[in-house]
Amino acid sequence: MLGLMQDWPLLCHRIIDHAAIYHADRPVISRSIEGPIHRTTYADIRRRALKVAQRLDRDGISLGDRVATLAWNTWRHMECWYGILGIGAIYHTVNPRLFPEQIAWIVNHAQDRVMMTDLTFVPLLEKIADKLPSVERYVILTDKAHMPATTLKYAVAYEDWIGEVDGDFAWRSFDENTAAGMCYTSGTTGNPKGVLYSHRSNVLHAFMASLPDSKGISSRDVVLPVVPFFHANGWSLAFSTPLTGAALVLPGAKLDGASIYELLDQHKVTFTAAVPTVWLMLLQDLEKTGGKLPHLKRVVIGGSACPRAMTQAFQDKYGVEVIHAWGMTEMSPLGSLCTMKPEYASLSGDARLDIQVKQGHPPFGVEMKITDDNGKDLPWDGKTFGRLKVRGPAVARAYYKDDSRILDADGFFDTGDVATMDKHGYMQVTDRSKDVIKSGGEWISSIDLENLAVGHPKVAEAAVIGVRHPKWDERPLLIVVLKKDQRATKDEILGFMQDKIAKWWMPDDVAFVDDIPHTATGKILKTELRERFKEYKLPVAATA
Ligand code: AMP
Repeated sequence: MLGLMQDWPLLCHRIIDHAAIYHADRPVISRSIEGPIHRTTYADIRRRALKVAQRLDRDGISLGDRVATLAWNTWRHMECWYGILGIGAIYHTVNPRLFPEQIAWIVNHAQDRVMMTDLTFVPLLEKIADKLPSVERYVILTDKAHMPATTLKYAVAYEDWIGEVDGDFAWRSFDENTAAGMCYTSGTTGNPKGVLYSHRSNVLHAFMASLPDSKGISSRDVVLPVVPFFHANGWSLAFSTPLTGAALVLPGAKLDGASIYELLDQHKVTFTAAVPTVWLMLLQDLEKTGGKLPHLKRVVIGGSACPRAMTQAFQDKYGVEVIHAWGMTEMSPLGSLCTMKPEYASLSGDARLDIQVKQGHPPFGVEMKITDDNGKDLPWDGKTFGRLKVRGPAVARAYYKDDSRILDADGFFDTGDVATMDKHGYMQVTDRSKDVIKSGGEWISSIDLENLAVGHPKVAEAAVIGVRHPKWDERPLLIVVLKKDQRATKDEILGFMQDKIAKWWMPDDVAFVDDIPHTATGKILKTELRERFKEYKLPVAATA
């Protein structure tokens, strides 16, 4: 027997309808690419998104067509998303930090028909435009006054383009399983893989992401998504913020510490989210200027492991609660968040930080398990490492135009991460399976060592890689970037780590470098470090 409830497809544009009706005047404040701060509301974003939909429709874009956005977080980018979604076309966020050849490869693979882009990326696109035959026209997210002279095909200023229609348009209706968005994983090896979200997965994920033990945002919050919309589905913030009716502050192109601080302070932001490298810049800026964060209540930190020292700095110096989160593009992207269950809520000081270095527990809608290489479940004792596998309505079951099977017999997706689970269901990532250091048949977590090293007051950033060793196969090498104008010796750094880890985990050597390479999504680029240190000779005597 079927239930007798209404059929109300879970379509993404219903989220902006909701915000426009029930939170109509909530501010959406952006740092524009042209410079000044721009103010609008959810009601106006919806009104203009309808124009985007109508204009795309007039250009013959329809159900299933891909429309690329190569853009920073601004109100215009958000209007584009909802306009694209509202006719059943697919927003395809392209990460501008990729190499131009990778961008061309991705756009060709997706066969994007329209490219919507910020002024910032016009020169980049001009260089590769002849390699993008599927793109029929370029919409530059600006107005007539700022429109540059460009060689891009049928280039038009966004404001002129939507100005050609009146907005008297109704969203299209279709099945909730229709494709909605697309985001390619920035794989460090091989070609990128396309993850294809559906309307249903995005809407369910936005609910999951907003729960009190997830991001817990409400209409009383002011949310600053520093994480770009082009990184892993923008961590759902373009959906979960209007869904909850929170106010929005969008950072545009300026993500440096001082610019982010200005937005946090002037617009009384209560909630923000980004990768650790962004917060490193903000904390360094605050140290320099003596700035305070009186309005900010919570910061979500994920994308790579949040160092213990970072959590401590936010919480102890600035009174901001850190929520460590883990996820991946294939998961829409949230997989777990480290909020405190009653079992841990009363902990304080180091005991609390011991929990907060974990990536946390999954919201409803994410199932997790850890297994050995043969797929056998491993115990949840907080110690045993295994392959982390996930299942749920917002987890990918296949990649775009790719026949390879990515699920196991029970429908779980292997994340490629190695993790422990504790008895209360808190997951901790030990490593990417390809980054874990295999020493004498045992595993050493590079993440744990990196976390510890950045706790040293002189260390700005640290990376640990396995280096060939004649006896133990691999031993850890600690690579360190010191804070500006600081000096330190190997013994000083290793001395700080002593007694905090098992003796055999201690790095065999420390290499001081000026910079550590990052991927297009801000993760440490271990493949390049391994290449750079390929010939590195460890001081053998230390562990022989
Ligand atoms: P992406 O799809 O680019 O977001 O990358 C996903 C990968 O980032 C995951 O599989 C993890 O290896 C890594 N990752 C994300 N969040 C965290 C975290 N909080 N701690 C450690 N690794 C993380």
